[in-house]
Amino acid sequence: MHIVTGNIHIHSRHSDGSAAIPEIAAAAAKAGLDYIIVTDHQTLSGLPEEGYHHGVLVLVGMEINRTKNHYLALGIRREIPDNDESPQAVIDAVNEQGGLGFIAHPFEKGSPFVLDGITYPWQDWKVQGFTGIEVWNWCSQWRDGIQKLLKGLFYAYFKPDGPISGPCPQALKLFDKIAQKQKITAIAGSDAHNWHFRYGPFQRCIFPYEYLFRTANNSLLLKEPLSQNVKKAKKQILEALRTGRAYIINHLLGKADGFSFFVANEKGIFNLGDTVTLTANTTLSVRCPFVSARHLSISILRNGTVWQQEENNRCNYQITEKGTYRVEIRHKKKSWIFTNPIYVV
Ligand SMILES: [Zn+2]
Ligand SMILES: [Zn+2]
Repeated sequence: MHIVTGNIHIHSRHSDGSAAIPEIAAAAAKAGLDYIIVTDHQTLSGLPEEGYHHGVLVLVGMEINRTKNHYLALGIRREIPDNDESPQAVIDAVNEQGGLGFIAHPFEKGSPFVLDGITYPWQDWKVQGFTGIEVWNWCSQWRDGIQKLLKGLFYAYFKPDGPISGPCPQALKLFDKIAQKQKITAIAGSDAHNWHFRYGPFQRCIFPYEYLFRTANNSLLLKEPLSQNVKKAKKQILEALRTGRAYIINHLLGKADGFSFFVANEKGIFNLGDTVTLTANTTLSVRCPFVSARHLSISILRNGTVWQQEENNRCNYQITEKGTYRVEIRHKKKSWIFTNPIYVV
């Protein structure tokens, strides 16, 4: 198994970001990422720049819709027009091109001090056919956390991750509900713009690209090393996202070398996104060998409810019930790792 880590949901100068794609890739290289996915608003004009820059694989998708129902579309060749009122039409158009898509920042609260309180929530929950949900959007959560001006200024100048708590609980709840019926992928997005917090005379770039590339990233499990051939590498990344062979990791709390979560029985070893048939000898294991056990709290959720919890850096349990199992790990009580599920049927 080969693990690659990257950042998803990035805006460049092709829309309202503040840097060109090669500059953004250079920031990703400094942060040690393997890939990034640029999703500019309403355009695929960055597509000719897809490829390796500074050793980082850059993929280009787009973010569709304006006032609500923002959708991140990946793996498409032709731009898809906005349809704020009918996001199903957008999802269908992405699927027709063989692409995949994620519901972006579905539950935003907004801040009276940022963007005049504007939010871009997802409103149509009758939709079907999407690949997954962006359960953690870093910039959106930052904004939601700025409800008092003085606190906002303090965060902006001294503690940029102050309002950050972890994936949005509402989004996770919805994710767990859907995952009990069908496969779905959870991702984290940075929504990187190199964005400035402005209030009267105060102005500060809160989240430069490089900073965000060291926050909530997405690690993907690949069967082979990431190819140097761009077309093949793109297929590897998109396939891992499509099949849920992915977990979210907050790199502000450190890397997770050696981390694994798997289910095993006499039929084999099963990883994130896999479906396993329950037998009498089915076990579930979590390992995080290089981090001190006293710093970690491992929660295993079954069908969205905590099934087991342990202060440790490894655990093993026998599975006796079918269900959708995923893992959350807190590092010194802070949100660190959130996996996609393994489906036991
Ligand atoms: Zn958006
Ligand atoms: Zn965005």
